[in-house]
Amino acid sequence: MIPYLNLNLLNKKYEDSFRESLRNVIDSGWYILGKQVKQFEANYAAYSETKYCIGVANGLDALILSLKALGIGKDDEVIVPSNTYIASWLAVSYVGAIPIPVEPSIETYNINPALIAEKISGKTKAIMPVNIYGQAAELKSITDIALRHNLFVVEDNAQSQGATYNNRKTGSWGHINATSFYPGKNLGALGDAGAITTNDESLAHRVNLLRNYGSEKKYYNEVKGINSRLDELQAAFLRIKLESLDSDNAKRKKQAQTYQQELNNVGDIILPRLADQADSVYHIYLIRSQHRDALQEHLTANKIGTLIHYPVPPHRQQAYADLNFKKGDFPIAEEIADTCLSIPLYPGLSFAEQEKVINSIKQFYSKKSF
Ligand SMILES: *Cc1c(COP(=O)(O)O)cnc(C)c1O
Repeated sequence: MIPYLNLNLLNKKYEDSFRESLRNVIDSGWYILGKQVKQFEANYAAYSETKYCIGVANGLDALILSLKALGIGKDDEVIVPSNTYIASWLAVSYVGAIPIPVEPSIETYNINPALIAEKISGKTKAIMPVNIYGQAAELKSITDIALRHNLFVVEDNAQSQGATYNNRKTGSWGHINATSFYPGKNLGALGDAGAITTNDESLAHRVNLLRNYGSEKKYYNEVKGINSRLDELQAAFLRIKLESLDSDNAKRKKQAQTYQQELNNVGDIILPRLADQADSVYHIYLIRSQHRDALQEHLTANKIGTLIHYPVPPHRQQAYADLNFKKGDFPIAEEIADTCLSIPLYPGLSFAEQEKVINSIKQFYSKKSF
């Protein structure tokens, strides 16, 4: 059995350090907003090439609090990709704003900058690029468009910790940027966690208040905040894992290279393609085929785990029935949903296992007449 993802294997190598950290946190007697969170925030800000990092409870909260800190709310419009995980849209909806979808490039699956301007209205407040599957969106063009139209940029960097665009880290291009440390992300905690990065001191201050009941000084509340704190234990674990993020990402890139070489020209498979200047940390290795369902069944029968990212694009989800989108409204996002398949790729996946995945895919196409 080759699982799609093996979280136990990913975390096993840190077990001794985790146990030591657990003991330290228990012994400290301080479990919320203490030394561990402060230190992780400093380390992650430095890693992200931003001045500030604020730890929060999860990635969705990071997006919601980013929008709130910018003052985005009722009846405002935020440009979002039609091809993304639904959390990007949900954050916009939760602050009372309206997600305005823009189609991706069929090459990179990231939002197509050339299609953004036509969706900007008098109500538009921000653009939310999502660095999808580990690949940087075209952040230079996007931030230029935002500047021309006087809009904020909120990067959703949940899938791309460590990626770069034009040699500058993703999660540093927006006025404010959100990320998630959900266990399966490139930098994953042992539970829920997330963070916001920014170079803007006043935005950092606002988020710092918002995540903690609107309070900096205990029992004095400046604004109506929520409880969305990163906890000490997760911060302690994340500090340990952050040190290996670059080498883990390098392993992902090497595995991607192997797939790229071995699956090139196999059947009708379309392999990942990067935009100029965009680097990928391969959070997901996504291939496409017109025979996706049959290919997935074949791999399942051969005990190889796969996933679909994602089977239903946000505009076709029941949750967004109120926006009255129809099938065909965002054909590129729909085409990706209908043809995509994510195959195993993670630090710890052995070369032999990867060969099995490759051989199994080749076998699928050699038996078929397409
Ligand atoms: C995972 C993810 C989120 C949400 O993160 P959580 O920590 O699960 O709330 C947001 N956006 C994208 C693109 C994601 O992949």
